[in-house]
Amino acid sequence: MRRYSAFAIAREAARYHSGWERAWASPEPKSEYDVIIVGAGGHGLATAYYLGKNFGITNVAIIEKGWLGGGNTGRNTTIIRSNYLQDPSAAIYEKARSLYETMSQDLNYNVMFSPRGVMMLAQTEHEIRGYQRTAHANALQGVATEFIGPQKVKELCPIIELKGPRYPVLGALWQPRGGTARHDAVAWGYARACSDMGMHIIQKCEVTGVHQDKGEVTGVQTTKGRIGCKKLGMVVAGNASALADMAGFRIPLESVALQALVSEPVKPCMDVVVMANTVHGYLSQSDKGEMVIGGGTDGFNNYTQRGSFHHIEETVRALVETFPMISRLKMLRQWGGIVDVTGDRSPIIGKTPLGNTFINCGWGTGGFKAIPGSGWAFAETIAKGAPGELAAPFGMDRFIEGRFIDESVAAGVAH
Ligand SMILES: Cc1cc2nc3c(=O)[nH]c(=O)nc-3n(C[C@H](O)[C@H](O)[C@H](O)COP(=O)(O)OP(=O)(O)OC[C@H]3O[C@@H](n4cnc5c(N)ncnc54)[C@H](O)[C@@H]3O)c2cc1C
Repeated sequence: MRRYSAFAIAREAARYHSGWERAWASPEPKSEYDVIIVGAGGHGLATAYYLGKNFGITNVAIIEKGWLGGGNTGRNTTIIRSNYLQDPSAAIYEKARSLYETMSQDLNYNVMFSPRGVMMLAQTEHEIRGYQRTAHANALQGVATEFIGPQKVKELCPIIELKGPRYPVLGALWQPRGGTARHDAVAWGYARACSDMGMHIIQKCEVTGVHQDKGEVTGVQTTKGRIGCKKLGMVVAGNASALADMAGFRIPLESVALQALVSEPVKPCMDVVVMANTVHGYLSQSDKGEMVIGGGTDGFNNYTQRGSFHHIEETVRALVETFPMISRLKMLRQWGGIVDVTGDRSPIIGKTPLGNTFINCGWGTGGFKAIPGSGWAFAETIAKGAPGELAAPFGMDRFIEGRFIDESVAAGVAH
């Protein structure tokens, strides 16, 4: 595949952009692959990419029931950070964050990584203590964060109201190299690189059954027929329980709708990401000028990809306390995704009860930031047949052993 470059843009400009190639191919499925990945979201595509790049495994199909990146990967608010409390989480999220730093160069695709800084506001005494503890833990883990006072918060984000009516801003946990990236571009960049390695991305092809023989998977039944495989990777986020059900095992997670909304575009007014976990809302400004607003999950399990209406009202009402200026903005659009939430708010990466089948799910409300790290660790798990150092703590057996990686308390909200 031809490299994208300033020279290529100039060349195409001179010939009316008639020479661009398709970014990825759309082949018909073969009868068998070495590895099938179900789910062409960011995590599935990144897994395929690192299978090829790190292990030379390229006879791979990535099977997607809709369009690639059309699940949560294309629906999130794009926050990237690694300021987690527990060591295994900090390790995998920081690996991911560091891979984001060079992703555009690695993939030869501009993913618009913008390390503009992420702050998590402390608006109660309890939060101050919690975030100071996380800052100390991060120092030991090699993750660059610091606890900053209210004046520094105001300097970094002038549109904040420090003396909110219910919750004043008392400080923040600040990660200067956290930020955002263009979510679709992450999926498209990985897809292009996978296609370039000869992998098959098969869209509009739903997996409807899992064929097995003597405790091993032999292939999957799809809407395009049966496709055989030597190894199977399941990476379907909110549909993980449904796919596991087809394969005959259960996983400890719930699927709920999480939603977000954007305002009309306005002039640049905020060049950091702010998360206000006490009032529950988070805010950043996109390159187009829209204020990107994320809210909470529905209080009940569902697969609607929409979310309940009252959440929009609650989220905006809460954010207006801390950002009064947004009360004058018109909201443009709202959407939802089905997130896969585990009891300890940490992902599941590892083996399943079926010998040659592996699962990667449970990233819940916060897996966009993890895409490259998760793909890296899951590719290693599939290639070697067992998890490496990054993935090992995240096995499903932790729910049997009571060895939780509890980020529900540590992260407050796990976006
Ligand atoms: C509103 C919202 C805001 C969020 N904000 C953030 C944020 O700011 N930062 C952050 O880090 N994370 C955030 N997240 C979470 C993040 O989006 C997800 O954790 C991440 O995108 C999951 O990626 P994935 O590749 O696992 O899943 P997905 O992108 O959902 O991909 C899974 C794919 O599997 C496909 N699939 C499912 N079943 C089948 C089947 N039977 N056959 C074939 N294909 C199938 C689906 O169509 C889908 O494309 C947010 C999520 C939402 C919904």
